[in-house]
Amino acid sequence: MAAVYQALHRRVSSLACRLHSTYVRKMRYLNQLKEDDSLCRQAQTSGTFYLFHNLSPFLQKVGKKYLVPQLSAAETRQILEKLQEAEQWMEKSVLIGCSDEHRPRFALDLGWDDSSSSSSPASTTLDKSVIEAELQGSFTDLRKALFVVDRKDSPLLASAQSLLRWHDSHQYCSKTGQPTEKNPAGSKRVCHASGVTYYPQVSPVVITLVSDGSRCLLARQPSFPPGMFTALSGFCDMGECF
Ligand SMILES: [Zn+2]
Repeated sequence: MAAVYQALHRRVSSLACRLHSTYVRKMRYLNQLKEDDSLCRQAQTSGTFYLFHNLSPFLQKVGKKYLVPQLSAAETRQILEKLQEAEQWMEKSVLIGCSDEHRPRFALDLGWDDSSSSSSPASTTLDKSVIEAELQGSFTDLRKALFVVDRKDSPLLASAQSLLRWHDSHQYCSKTGQPTEKNPAGSKRVCHASGVTYYPQVSPVVITLVSDGSRCLLARQPSFPPGMFTALSGFCDMGECF
């Protein structure tokens, strides 16, 4: 019995160790892409892309399932060529992770109104229906998308959207009012007038499920549609403990 336990323990610890080293290697690689702009531009040519339009992710319905397609760089470029500004659009993508094999993943919002950039005026945003027809799918509100996509895709979609949203709302320096410029990975924005660097901020939030056997406590706001309830949750204020 002790021998079986020891063998099992060894297997579990070697698996944990492997998972841990895979995670560490991935994080190191992602950090390299965030720091090294030319490496990141190179990665854009071999990476996969998740498309968004005005912060809504692109989904494809296959049978009864909703899939979140990952486009290759070539497929993404094909779509962008319709804009005749493929290179500028590739630059707008943000790094959102990588596979275990270190294939980088990017998110790109084709409806982004990049008003801070003089080289790509807002009029060049892609028409949503044109892309939907071309790729046979639809841009879906994230809150609805999270209910229908595979569970493994949800965290990536949510973090991609929050990073895209941060870029959308931080196009100007809050000190000088000058346009900020994103780095290729999208891990920061810099104001060249004041030298201020902006990093995506984290907004701590707590969500709890108070349960009692098979029952749980839910709440609702008057603004919710009928039948909608939520677990108790809220944002943490500055200095407030969880
Ligand atoms: Zn500034």
